[in-house]
Amino acid sequence: MSNFHNVVEVSARKQYKCAECCGEILVGEKYFRHSYVQDGDFGSYKLDACCEKIISEVISETSIYDVDNIVIGEIYEQFEFHDSELEWLTAYIDNQAKRNAKPSQFLIDRRDRLLVITNE
Ligand SMILES: [Zn+2]
Repeated sequence: MSNFHNVVEVSARKQYKCAECCGEILVGEKYFRHSYVQDGDFGSYKLDACCEKIISEVISETSIYDVDNIVIGEIYEQFEFHDSELEWLTAYIDNQAKRNAKPSQFLIDRRDRLLVITNE
């Protein structure tokens, strides 16, 4: 069974929720629609532009091979101990706040800890 992954950038015709950060994608906003077949199962998910960018950077800058190897909704698991961890965490949390999704305390604590280390 061959695997397949396709992504298209489209405008939202109604309000959606980003599969990564749970934030709102507003009507008219550009978002990224992923559809795939993996081991015979079809699936799809939507990402806002910020999450799409973060995930692309994580894939290109870490040891993750490609988009089929990530767990959508838990990309922050891959930030840890990377040079860009603070940058990614900050972008992720700010994006969630902007989209009315509640950033997890776990991620906020991690960012704050990194900020302290960075400023020492
Ligand atoms: Zn998102």
